[in-house]
Amino acid sequence: MNLADSEIVTAILTDGGFVRAGDEASADVVLLNSCAVRENAEERLGNILTQLKGRKRRQRELVVGVLGCVPQFERERVFSDFPFVDFIVGPDNYRELAGIIENSREQKRLASLDYDQQETYAGIDPVRTGSISAFLPVMRGCNNYCAFCVVPVTRGRERSVGYERVLAEVAALAASGFREVTLLGQNVNSWRDAEKSLDFAGLLDGVSQAAPSMRIRFTTSHPKDISEALVKVIAARPNLCNHIHLPVQSGSSRMLDLMKRGHTREEYLDRIAMIRRHIPDAAITTDLIAGFCTETEEEHRETLSLMEAVGYDTAFMFHYSVRPGTWAARNLPDDVPEALKKRRLQEIIELQNAMSREIYRREIGKTVEVLAEAESRRSSLQLMGRTKTNRAVVFSRGEFNAGDTLLVKITGATSATLTGEAVS
Ligand code: SF4
Repeated sequence: MNLADSEIVTAILTDGGFVRAGDEASADVVLLNSCAVRENAEERLGNILTQLKGRKRRQRELVVGVLGCVPQFERERVFSDFPFVDFIVGPDNYRELAGIIENSREQKRLASLDYDQQETYAGIDPVRTGSISAFLPVMRGCNNYCAFCVVPVTRGRERSVGYERVLAEVAALAASGFREVTLLGQNVNSWRDAEKSLDFAGLLDGVSQAAPSMRIRFTTSHPKDISEALVKVIAARPNLCNHIHLPVQSGSSRMLDLMKRGHTREEYLDRIAMIRRHIPDAAITTDLIAGFCTETEEEHRETLSLMEAVGYDTAFMFHYSVRPGTWAARNLPDDVPEALKKRRLQEIIELQNAMSREIYRREIGKTVEVLAEAESRRSSLQLMGRTKTNRAVVFSRGEFNAGDTLLVKITGATSATLTGEAVS
């Protein structure tokens, strides 16, 4: 979402007369689009700002702004820890950026952090960073208030981009040569167009028909909102990718209740069974938190057993870190010792790696459809692309180029990448 927002910010500033610098060293204005979802992302922001401090001392006219979720809920901290920051702007206020940059030369510590429950950045044509695969936000915000999550605090309530506008944007991407689009939302499957009485299944159906030559992906889904109708649409339309990212966070129903996730372990497994019934070869990925408040050893084991029951392709795995402003920060003890959180996380990672290795190994010998995205980092004789299941494939390129869709025979696998030969 931050990548997509940065493309919107670039469009707004280009329209305001700014030109993107070739590199950071030559920039007169440095903007950091920040993420608050985990502690380590915030630490990274702090490290970059610390590096910028020396440059700002030497180059007094340099303008430094922090955008996004961190200032939205930690306004005072950004200015107190980094007093040289000229301004902070929240996720709903990017339209004001050009004016704020100009004003910051006169006024110090400007802040624009008002929530705008209508803002979807309609009418702004993002300056895309790629030409093959595009991100398209179709809704913003979240109404769920999971106990550990800052998103409702930083991004406000849910609002959706209208059906017609999403279809027009997807058609425009297809006409400009894009081969793939990922529909984005913090809670994408709660997308709604009330006027047209359409839900996310209806949107996916419409998008897949508006751009039949494009691959369509979406993220992130909430388990309680993934309907059978939605899964049936994915199964029926060949250009809707058979990869579903379905965050579970924990395998214990007590933990899920404490996390305020709105479903139990059993209900989650029912959803997985329903997905597999309609799309047997679907790749399912997830997010997992180790060591959430009061988690016992037994409950940690339930996470491991749920992972085995589902057989995730891959997972984003982290140990719990308290996020200020969340329900958990105010009401639950962060009482799992750090060393224990790390050990549990390590067990989760080791299990996931072993499962991924096995799932990938089973692909050896198959011929799969790949959208080539770029040259591989190792050799210009190889390309890197993705299967519809979102598995990365590195292959000898033959006659093919980035942007081509082709068949690749899989000849090798690690726990994260398939390797192969282009066949046609
Ligand atoms: S559904 Fe996702 S974005 Fe919304 S509060 Fe829960 S974890 Fe955060």
